[in-house]
Amino acid sequence: MSEHTWRSRIEGTLRRRGDPDYETARTRALWNELKPDRYPDVIVHAACERDVQEALRPAVASGLRVAVRAGGHSWCDSPLRDGGVLLDLSGLNQWKIDADSATATVQPGVIGSRFAGELARRDLAFPAGHCPSVALGGYLLSGGLGWNSGLWGVGCASVLEITAVTADGEVLRCTEHEHPGLFWAARGAGPGFFAAVTSFRVRLQPRPTALATTSYTFPLTTVGPVADWATETERALPANVELSFLLAGEDVPGVTNGPRPKVVVVTATAFANSRGEAVDALRPLRNCPLKERPLTRRLDEPTSLAALYDASRNLWPEKHRYVADTLWSDEDYASLLTKLGDTFAKAPSGRSVVLAPFSPASQEDELLRNMAFSVLGESYVVPYAVWSDPAHDDVNVHWLRDAMRTVEPCGTGHYIAEADLTADPSRARRSFAAADWDRLQSLRAEYDPRSLFFSYLSA
Ligand SMILES: Cc1cc2nc3c(=O)[nH]c(=O)nc-3n(C[C@H](O)[C@H](O)[C@H](O)COP(=O)(O)OP(=O)(O)OC[C@H]3O[C@@H](n4cnc5c(N)ncnc54)[C@H](O)[C@@H]3O)c2cc1C
Repeated sequence: MSEHTWRSRIEGTLRRRGDPDYETARTRALWNELKPDRYPDVIVHAACERDVQEALRPAVASGLRVAVRAGGHSWCDSPLRDGGVLLDLSGLNQWKIDADSATATVQPGVIGSRFAGELARRDLAFPAGHCPSVALGGYLLSGGLGWNSGLWGVGCASVLEITAVTADGEVLRCTEHEHPGLFWAARGAGPGFFAAVTSFRVRLQPRPTALATTSYTFPLTTVGPVADWATETERALPANVELSFLLAGEDVPGVTNGPRPKVVVVTATAFANSRGEAVDALRPLRNCPLKERPLTRRLDEPTSLAALYDASRNLWPEKHRYVADTLWSDEDYASLLTKLGDTFAKAPSGRSVVLAPFSPASQEDELLRNMAFSVLGESYVVPYAVWSDPAHDDVNVHWLRDAMRTVEPCGTGHYIAEADLTADPSRARRSFAAADWDRLQSLRAEYDPRSLFFSYLSA
């Protein structure tokens, strides 16, 4: 197919390397300001589902490989590859909500917080990601550790059906019963999925009407006893309370507020249906027996989804440079966070953080059935190097890698959505249970035998 015909068949836009606005389109594809030197030959912005097929057909004919993008929030910039086609689906950003059946059909470019806002107006909810600007596409494909996932499960547990365009250009509707292998892979394979998803049908939840938060901030030096206390207390919390640890640097607004030493924050948010239920749910955290005095203590404060998203915005500011990585481990939080805390004390950027959310489910949970995503350990940590000056790239990347080295020996796996897939080629494989990884390889061979779709970065 000639270049002219290709362009004319696409309702959206097609840019080639060398076109005047190519570089803007390439860098805008990524939320992270740290842009890798990887250059696709062609960037297609799909305007409609048919564009996806129209973009794939010439790619197949000319042997170009394809990378898919939805919201561009991959920390390691996985939609950007050298050569081939970058198929940008951010323009597929429509949803249709059916309140009667409590289901919705969403396209991959739908931004989680916008969808959540629209649902809230109808007294419905969905376990979207914690960052307000993450798109549902990459998030749901990776598993999705989102709001209230202790009760609702990871995001992909709510996916009932997907529509995907496969490497041979077919449009497939996939459910537990139709193309069950592709459906299984779409629930967790993440940035190595081997088809382009054009829509998800998802189950919705009733909106929790009373949200409340309890939080304690302590000096970082007390992280061990703080983690022991919170871990013990977490066992007494109901499933609708989300508990996490945050190691925060000096410059994280809303947390440290100025030139304070680094801190560890314990935050618990209850997603309840009345003020009384929320306060009851948070009651186990009311008394903290530690002899260390907290720097701040906030009990049962009413909150809202909008306020939670604001806090996430402070944690992950836009227009910053990031490297992130993840680790599942069977070691307890006190031990993991003490090791990380020592390195964190030396973090070169006061913006960097380490997040450690309690696992949304146990390995045996029914909500984790039939998906490529797995909970791979009892504890889970995510260090983020966050900075803004390009002159500090090396020192921050080194710090993040050093931090990971302190805990990797006790690791049992990674979470594919936030793992640094550029760090080492085994990261992708170790993000899945061994049998699941093997199944993903067989399914890829079945659905994409000529590897039209790029696989994991550095896999
Ligand atoms: C600030 C921030 C906060 C985050 N918070 C959370 C969180 O709370 N919980 C969580 O689980 N994750 C979180 N993440 C990670 C996030 O879920 C993943 O990076 C996810 O891939 C982002 O989705 P996206 O559509 O923006 O991804 P993109 O960068 O657009 O895509 C990532 C990869 O997904 C694949 N992909 C995307 N869309 C499609 C599609 N339609 N069809 C086929 N393949 C596709 C591609 O392989 C692509 O390389 C966060 C990321 C950021 C930057």
